[in-house]
Amino acid sequence: MVLDQKFYQSKYEFYRKFSLSVVIFSSLASMTYFVSDCQLFGRIAWETMLPRFIILVPMIIYLILYGRTKDYRIMVPASYLVIHAIMWNTIAAIYFLPDKSHAVEGFIIMHLMFLAMGFIAPFKWATIFHALVIGNILVSNSFNHYESLDQMLSLGIPCVVAICAIQYFMQGVYYEHYVVVNKLERMSRYDMLTGAYNRYIIEDITDENAVNFNESIPVPTGMLLLDIDHFKKVNDTYGHIAGDSVLRQVIEVVFSSTRATDYCIRWGGEEFLVILPGCGPARARNVAETIRSRIEHLDTGVCPVTISIGVISYEGGDYKGYVARCDEALYRAKNTGRNKVVAREDF
Ligand code: GH3
Ligand code: MG
Ligand code: MG
Repeated sequence: MVLDQKFYQSKYEFYRKFSLSVVIFSSLASMTYFVSDCQLFGRIAWETMLPRFIILVPMIIYLILYGRTKDYRIMVPASYLVIHAIMWNTIAAIYFLPDKSHAVEGFIIMHLMFLAMGFIAPFKWATIFHALVIGNILVSNSFNHYESLDQMLSLGIPCVVAICAIQYFMQGVYYEHYVVVNKLERMSRYDMLTGAYNRYIIEDITDENAVNFNESIPVPTGMLLLDIDHFKKVNDTYGHIAGDSVLRQVIEVVFSSTRATDYCIRWGGEEFLVILPGCGPARARNVAETIRSRIEHLDTGVCPVTISIGVISYEGGDYKGYVARCDEALYRAKNTGRNKVVAREDF
């Protein structure tokens, strides 16, 4: 199991809304205990009003943070701080109560909040933050003098241990989910044979209607359509496995001739669409020429290969129209001798 920051961030984001509901509803529920305070006093419990309602302050600070960041390293401690604040507000309210005997049940109920919060937290953090509950009880006993401290500990400690064990297993369950989701994501994004993006990537770089490129593709942007020349002959002469090897080597040249931020997409069998964000027409043509020339001189270990490339400059609007015109340039390259770069602007 590789439990790195990416995993913990993913775990947090998966349960993020759940943790928000735990914080809000636990805070609201803790305020309703004011009603039971009034029942114990037989009047309005002015003494516990502040401790019960002050929880709104950490809750609001938490909500502001929630709106600003998704970083688990901030949000997990912040979430635990709110539920610890609920516990300390309860401890403060208990201080004023004429009958403290219900504190035992109150503290047991609190383990539920800590159980729920464990879903968003790295296991080790959850263990530490939850174990502090016992510390809270011991520290507060110095001024609350609980009549049933022994019971609080004998009921509370097994709760902490059992819930931590549950959280350890739940983290394992999330890990299985995480591995499957990552694998599906990889499979949907990348072509297995060549490592190029597959066509689904278009959904990531176009607007909601999948018509225009989105703002991650500024204008002008270079578009290249690449196709291996007479590739059928390579397969027919040397076999499919040798053909696959040539295909991989060709795409390696494309990768090494472009930036990590460019998109190399397997568009068809041995046809690739390369998107060079922010690249003007002259630069796009240069990149195409570099790729063409490197492949011409590539020692594939199978046979010499060449490619033809159509080039167009994307200036905004429907990307499919640009691909179609880039395809026209590619076919002009094919029909006028192959192993060449043709820009759509040239004809
Ligand atoms: P042209 O110069 O006109 O492009 O000729 P071509 O032979 O390359 O074109 P054609 O479209 O007739 O053939 C493409 C070939 O690419 C046919 C197909 O077997 C091969 N091909 C497509 N995908 C793969 C693949 O994943 N592996 C292998 N080995 N071959 C593939
Ligand atoms: Mg071909
Ligand atoms: Mg083809």
